[in-house]
Amino acid sequence: MGAPGPLSLNTVTVRERWGLAECIEGCARHGIPGISPWRDVLQAMGVERAGRAIRDAGLSVSGLCRGGMFPAADAAGRAAAIEDNRRAIGEAQAIGAACLVMVCGGLPPGSRDIEGARGMVRDGLHAIMEEARAAGVTIALEPLHPMTCADRSVLSTLGQALDLCDGLGAGSGVALDVYHVWWDPALREQVARAGARIAAFHVCDWLVPTTDTVFDRGLPGEGVIDIPGIRAMVEAGGYRGHTEVEILSRRWWAADPDDVLKEIKRRHATAC
Ligand code: ZN
Repeated sequence: MGAPGPLSLNTVTVRERWGLAECIEGCARHGIPGISPWRDVLQAMGVERAGRAIRDAGLSVSGLCRGGMFPAADAAGRAAAIEDNRRAIGEAQAIGAACLVMVCGGLPPGSRDIEGARGMVRDGLHAIMEEARAAGVTIALEPLHPMTCADRSVLSTLGQALDLCDGLGAGSGVALDVYHVWWDPALREQVARAGARIAAFHVCDWLVPTTDTVFDRGLPGEGVIDIPGIRAMVEAGGYRGHTEVEILSRRWWAADPDDVLKEIKRRHATAC
């Protein structure tokens, strides 16, 4: 098996200590060729200024995190979510992001209607697709581990994401995050089905024991996920994009970001 795709730093990995300007400088300093900003740090820096700095540093943008969060308790809330996703499409276009990553949203507060929430996700995505296609921004649906179903994503499996893509058509794809899909018995079959629709490849690791459902991810090689094995499946379908390291971890957030970037580079070369 060859080397993994070029490394990209998802900015959430160092979010407690670095803003976007420091992430851009950090990538340049450590020879990391890609970056994937979250919208909060992008907006804090200013979209135009950030786009310029990213281009000046010669970085490619593997994605913008994140759009989605469509379900809401009332029509006004759902319309506001669609508006916000339109703004996200504009931001993704402005910084030349390879895709806009979608974390689709969980149940509205107080609701037990999971099928209804899934319908809101589908309707929200259909409402923005034309604009995304016009902007040339790929909408990348990221299925999240089912433990996040209540509050973050009623979209839980790659199969579900691809069913949605079948309806959305051109300009839609999936963001495959090993943390969220490694357990899925249908993974191999669904990655093969996805083929060229894989728009992003996110890596981190599942720790045993996991002490927090959101903020306890490991660096590649620290846990139990066969990352090279999943990469082989993804590459068999033709994916040649970045390997994006995305670590939400209170443990790693406490470390010096320069040390984190060094460790990520090492593990990208040895554990991905
Ligand atoms: Zn991810």
